[in-house]
Amino acid sequence: MGDIAAPGLTSRRAIVFGLTSGVLAAVSACTAPAVPGTGGAAVPDEQQDLAAAVSPVQEVPDPPQPLPATPAAVHPPTKAQLVAEFAGKRPTEWGLAVTGVVTRSPARPAVITLDACGGAGGSGVDQELLAVLRRLGIPATLFVNARWMQANRTLAAELGADPLFELANHGWLHRPLSVSGKSAYGIAGTAGVADAYDELTKCQDVLQEAAGRPSRFFRAGTAYYDDVAAAMTRRLGMLPVNFSINADAGATLPPAAVASALSAAGPGDIVIAHFNKPGSGTAAGFRQALPRLQGGGTTFARLVDVLPAL
Ligand SMILES: [Zn+2]
Repeated sequence: MGDIAAPGLTSRRAIVFGLTSGVLAAVSACTAPAVPGTGGAAVPDEQQDLAAAVSPVQEVPDPPQPLPATPAAVHPPTKAQLVAEFAGKRPTEWGLAVTGVVTRSPARPAVITLDACGGAGGSGVDQELLAVLRRLGIPATLFVNARWMQANRTLAAELGADPLFELANHGWLHRPLSVSGKSAYGIAGTAGVADAYDELTKCQDVLQEAAGRPSRFFRAGTAYYDDVAAAMTRRLGMLPVNFSINADAGATLPPAAVASALSAAGPGDIVIAHFNKPGSGTAAGFRQALPRLQGGGTTFARLVDVLPAL
């Protein structure tokens, strides 16, 4: 129960963040698109995350050790109780793979997670990408922001009712999850425990309304957390989930680069890409890589199928 660490991983791992030769600047999750004619420079957009240059191979810590299970899912604390419990705690980590955040599963299938970040320029629907998954019968977990659901209510309900997919919590305002107001890619994080509580729970309310059920999986806007905020997420009965393979760098990569990154997916990997940016290279890259992966024996599942409840 709650043991989600990948077995056998005892040393630091190098995770390739979806880069191929010729692509020198990687970006993390949920990044702004490059603008034609600007040489690929990312454009600041307060509704989306900014691109950030990182090295092609990024060292990340071992998967975090599982934390003790709590009765949170049965009796989640109120906002006041959560503030009382966490307000005095000081974070010591900030990033994509902090203590408490899951980046792999212990199961054999790979998991495709697709984010829809919402807000201006972020509330589109990549119908071609969804069609590729449906045609191949490949399941996916869809991390949807509250603003995206509010802009796509009919589709959110349809996707929530489709057993091929699973809707999960991508936050209320798509903010990095911080208890001290730290920023990521120029986006201000939640200012404190109470603010983080709202970011976590108000999207649950919209999921309940739009799709009939909340989720037990959460991914912060920009995918950044501090370790106290990650612990808060678990205390509320949600598992904070990031990724081991970044397949589309915020829907900024061309098809060949997406296909190359995705082709590395194997047992236990959690892939991130985006389905809110129609016209990006993501759908074409998935269309190229997924049949080859299936032909090689790779299987796929949703998070709910491979990660135990807290
Ligand atoms: Zn996002």
